[in-house]
Amino acid sequence: MKSLREIYRIGKGPSSSHTMGPQKAAQAYLAKHPEAKSFRVTLYGSLAATGKGHMTDVAIEDVLSPIAPVEIVWKPSEFLAFHPNAMKFETDKGDPWTVYSVGGGAISEGPNPTGLMPVSGDIYDLTSLKDIQNWCDTHGRAYWEYVDKCEDPSIWDYLQEVWETMQAAVERGIDREGVLPGPLNLQRKASTYYIKAKGYKQSLQTRGLVYAYALAVSEENASGGIIVTAPTCGASGVIPAVLYHLSRGHNFSDQKILHALATAGLIGNVVKENASISGADVGCQGEVGVACAMASAAACQLFGGSPSQIEYAAEMGLEHHLGMTCDPICGLVQIPCIERNAFAATRALDSNLYASFSDGMHRVHFDHVVEVMMQTGHDIPSLYKETSEGGLAKGSGYFFSPEEM
Ligand code: SF4
Repeated sequence: MKSLREIYRIGKGPSSSHTMGPQKAAQAYLAKHPEAKSFRVTLYGSLAATGKGHMTDVAIEDVLSPIAPVEIVWKPSEFLAFHPNAMKFETDKGDPWTVYSVGGGAISEGPNPTGLMPVSGDIYDLTSLKDIQNWCDTHGRAYWEYVDKCEDPSIWDYLQEVWETMQAAVERGIDREGVLPGPLNLQRKASTYYIKAKGYKQSLQTRGLVYAYALAVSEENASGGIIVTAPTCGASGVIPAVLYHLSRGHNFSDQKILHALATAGLIGNVVKENASISGADVGCQGEVGVACAMASAAACQLFGGSPSQIEYAAEMGLEHHLGMTCDPICGLVQIPCIERNAFAATRALDSNLYASFSDGMHRVHFDHVVEVMMQTGHDIPSLYKETSEGGLAKGSGYFFSPEEM
């Protein structure tokens, strides 16, 4: 498995697969062709189906158009075999380069690597949570200590930067009002949720504040603000909501929060290694479901959970999202994505509580749920995997347009 830096990427929303990944690919192609007179970029499958709403064209043009004119070709019904998010770059002289945006902002050249996209090496020797858990039990260590053993020491400075970026996104998001970009004219809600939550007694306030924090980051993401993929842009509100809430409510030190982030990152890394964190590949279970598993583990770690209790919390966070489809209306990372982050954040707190009441013993291991998630994701028809053609995105008489409200 690779560094946690690959899971937590700091950048602009709204989509790690559709903006961060393609932008990175465009930069690599431009570095090879700085003298090009024109560029043509063909977007295939899910990348083309929801690319307009996710601003994929803008992300690519931002990089290439200062150098030469760019033609974007959309082929939403053509899926390449390696991954549903595919793109091909060409110049006026040819030199086609096909790459895939495989989730969380990562780019892969697929089965025919050319070396144009540098591949970072594996630094974790164990790749299943069961093996990592055994290591923890054998050595009397915590999950974050396994991260510490495998990464170089600068990971802690990086996680501090991640934590500061997450907090800044929460604070910007709860302060901003107005409407989000795009044809849905969706109003930001974090600010009102925050104010209303403050007026309630503590039992309800907790839930209201967690909603507000998750909405804040997800709304920042939807408006192209700077956020951290955790593990993706679409699911970027879950972990900050849980950690921001716990750090304020329980006075956890930054060091404890960084340890929790390391534990959460390890959970995300195991899923990325053994399954997928791409909505186009496995549906939203791989994005918001995985974010919930990561946040559940982080919360359980903060409250002193044992390795098996933390694994149990993560397992429940993912298990109860199995089968969740990806069907964003108009291809925007807004409905259902934003609310979904708020619900996953509170579910993560519930998973922690449930695991904390247990002794950690349970029947279904996290690794098995990861396997099931991958299989379920591949069995789900592609209509429900970031094409914006099925589910909520299909529209019906029950969807209220802004004019009708
Ligand atoms: S529905 Fe889920 S997977 Fe799909 S774009 Fe929204 S957050 Fe991402």
